Amino acid sequence: MKLSEVLQSELNKLFLFELEDGYTIESVFYRGDTLCVSTQVGCPVRCSFCASGKNGLIRNLTWEEIYNQYALLKDKYPIRRIAVAGIGEPLINWKNVKEAFYRFKKEGLKVSFYTTGFPTKHLKELLNLPHAGVTISIHSLKDEVRKYLMPYAGKLEDLIKVLKEELPKLSKRKRNKVNLAYLLMKNVNDSEEELRSLAMLAKELGVGIALLYYNKTSEFEPVSEKEYEEAFLLLRSYGIRVTLSTRFRKDKLGGCGTLVVNRNKKVTV
Ligand code: SF4
Repeated sequence: MKLSEVLQSELNKLFLFELEDGYTIESVFYRGDTLCVSTQVGCPVRCSFCASGKNGLIRNLTWEEIYNQYALLKDKYPIRRIAVAGIGEPLINWKNVKEAFYRFKKEGLKVSFYTTGFPTKHLKELLNLPHAGVTISIHSLKDEVRKYLMPYAGKLEDLIKVLKEELPKLSKRKRNKVNLAYLLMKNVNDSEEELRSLAMLAKELGVGIALLYYNKTSEFEPVSEKEYEEAFLLLRSYGIRVTLSTRFRKDKLGGCGTLVVNRNKKVTV
């Protein structure tokens, strides 16, 4: 595995790594201290709003390939945190992700995760690791909308059941590090009714909400800045923790949902 290219915007640095079998995957250095790493070549969840899963899964990364995204950069960049939030669903490659997690911890890094929560048996284990945050994708509380947005994610009902069983077993401190992710898209999942249901779910579970801004990679449209702020205020009025996408995560280069396999190759995967 080798670093083959570095692309740069004012905010983010995007790294392309070429793997032994010729595929390229991507990582992003952002916020001046965080590296977002990939866990799979492609993604089997195939969310319709995300460029990473467009062509499905090619293969899992080994733990070494996950860890080496950091190891090959660590002497050049002041990496203090790892966000397991790049290409891939970490729980579907759990054995390798867990091994890489322990290697990151040995280096004194803080490690946070973004996941759809499936397979849920691994989510249970993840919630109990010494992580720095777990953000679980919800994106809609309506089955038909969710199915369209995240066609190969598990059922929301099953996810909520597991969260209701597992979250009360965590300490308050640990529960405070769990968030539900909601990617706001115009006329798809931005109705007041849906936002209120989301707020009530988060309140019931005792977790926060990461309200994500949509980086346009497909047919959907982002909401306006004003609508984004109004949604934030509505959720906040329920007395729950709500975080917004930072400018790094909204950046066209390396922002959420924009990473791809084989960016510069003619071969489609
Ligand atoms: S949003 Fe995450 S789970 Fe969905 S396709 Fe993209 S990488 Fe996979």
